[in-house]
Amino acid sequence: MKVLVAVKRVVDFNVKVRVKSDGSGVDLANVKMSMNPFCEIAVEEAVRMKEKGLASEIIAVSVGPTQAQETIRTALAMGADRGILVETDQTVEPLAVAKLLAKIVAEEKPDLVILGKQAIDDDSNQTGQMLAALLDWPQGTFASELVKQDDRLLLTREVDGGLQTLKLQIPAVITTDLRLNEPRYASLPNIMKAKRKPIDVKKPDDYGVDITPRLDVLSTEEPPARSAGVILESVAELVDKLKNEAGVL
Ligand code: AMP
Repeated sequence: MKVLVAVKRVVDFNVKVRVKSDGSGVDLANVKMSMNPFCEIAVEEAVRMKEKGLASEIIAVSVGPTQAQETIRTALAMGADRGILVETDQTVEPLAVAKLLAKIVAEEKPDLVILGKQAIDDDSNQTGQMLAALLDWPQGTFASELVKQDDRLLLTREVDGGLQTLKLQIPAVITTDLRLNEPRYASLPNIMKAKRKPIDVKKPDDYGVDITPRLDVLSTEEPPARSAGVILESVAELVDKLKNEAGVL
């Protein structure tokens, strides 16, 4: 199977983000950026498939600024074979990414596309679903386990109250949940090797896709500050506060 993995460059999950003073978004100046954690899980799953002899080639694709090459290099160091960067400094919304990925799928003809279930910057949780719709391919979202069975994929999803297992015909689009695997750290030799792996740099225009944003951000706000906690002397005091202050008893 040829596997395409979509990897997004986002603010590192450890960074405490600051909202820009004009409320137009999050301040990205001098902020550490990394691969979206769900995309790391997607790359890891593809690499494990390759190690099991199920995948023949892994292509890591990112849509973003020049620096998104670093995100692709991380995927290459983890075990992807080559990369494609669709370079743009514009904000790209899930529909634009899905359209670009659909064009790349038409060119590369992968058997499987793996995406993260959501990007931790916009929390959209849309791109995989939109891509599957554009391609008219089966989709399995929020995968917590993936097993190949003949020419099908058995995909387990955690749903309210239990597990759901889907049998997907390939080619298919899947998105990864947190428990699918634990991504590896790239070893130094693999980081060195990744420097020699090819990355194709394209522009959205090369695919004839209009990436003009369709959404207006009206405001971005910090969550309300939490008030400080208090240390109570006794259980009786706690019960009193729950009853008379919080009103939950
Ligand atoms: P979202 O729908 O924005 O929450 O993103 C879900 C997944 O779509 C991410 O985990 C990535 O796998 C993929 N994706 C979204 N945006 C991009 C992008 N700019 N470049 C590459 N992959 C992306």
